[in-house]
Amino acid sequence: MKRVYNFSAGPAVLPEPVLKKVQGELLNYQETGMSVMELSHRSAPFQNIIEEAQSLLRELLSIPDDYHVVFMQGGASLQFSMIPLNLLGSDQEADYVLTGSWSKKAVKEAEKVGNARTLLPHEKFEIPAYTPEDFSPQSSYVHITSNNTIEGTRYHKWPETGGIPLIADMSSHILSEKIDVSSFGMIYAGAQKNLGPSGVTVAIIHDSLVGQASNTCPTMLNYETYVKHDSLFNTPPTFSIYVLKLVLEWVKENGGVEGMQADNERKAGLLYNCIDQSSLFHNPVPEKNRSLMNIPFSTRDEELDARFLKEAKAEGFEFLKGHRSVGGMRASLYNAMPLEGVEALVGFMKKFESEQGGV
Ligand code: PMP
Repeated sequence: MKRVYNFSAGPAVLPEPVLKKVQGELLNYQETGMSVMELSHRSAPFQNIIEEAQSLLRELLSIPDDYHVVFMQGGASLQFSMIPLNLLGSDQEADYVLTGSWSKKAVKEAEKVGNARTLLPHEKFEIPAYTPEDFSPQSSYVHITSNNTIEGTRYHKWPETGGIPLIADMSSHILSEKIDVSSFGMIYAGAQKNLGPSGVTVAIIHDSLVGQASNTCPTMLNYETYVKHDSLFNTPPTFSIYVLKLVLEWVKENGGVEGMQADNERKAGLLYNCIDQSSLFHNPVPEKNRSLMNIPFSTRDEELDARFLKEAKAEGFEFLKGHRSVGGMRASLYNAMPLEGVEALVGFMKKFESEQGGV
């Protein structure tokens, strides 16, 4: 069966060699006579998997020793609650920069716990350059969504917080470009875009932010539980962690984060060039804020967008429909999207445009 080009925002395309490896090992993982799914999370083979996943992530992102890497469940959405439950006392405050729909969901959870201040850019696709004066000196942390999956925007320069820990939701672009982990107090990401299948959430947390939760914080929502027990306090999502480990191996074999970044710049460049040179397609994001991963575009004509989506699907381009809050189309070009997929999409867009009689 032919595989399609999958432009989904998540769960998203996975590297084909990883899927093949999973298939090859599915019934008998490394001579254990059983599937990874059937292995006890306390068994040596699974311990190796989780340790390897952690050390690969440390290597790929050059994570300093004073940061912990933990694997959790509940998606990035549970982090919206866990972050304030661990780091925001009821009499404390935190700053939330609202650059998109996901940051707005994050702040809603923080408001239930303590005093969440909000910084709202003037425009939907704006990423302002923040300096320490923008934040409250009393803030326990500053929260950002570093890549806005729905709006197709990203930071090109991190906010300067003047020493307040910066916490970033990197769900939709972790491992897509080089970052300096030491600029952050914490980074978190749901796996189902650049890391693996859904079901596991990764967090990279500076040691100073662990052990801050109050006694009333539920055990499973306390970062200290995951750190103390190496993410094995209870049964972790074993299969998702196994696939995540294979994805990290694939990233390493393909040039690491630098290799991913070079490929991503090339892929995104191709699509942005096509849109910018077109007189039919339009991208609403100012060039300096554009995401490498999520690229919204439209013809600014709903009927024509619908026709484009229908014809694209028939040609094997899947999940190109844009998020309802932005409309039109959205192509998510995660690490595992091959260059050929973007070249084929661009070819299809040019053909579609010429068929509209050079609109
Ligand atoms: N944050 C961002 C930036 C996202 O893109 C998403 C999912 N698309 C989420 C949070 C929510 O993730 P989850 O479904 O894992 O809770």
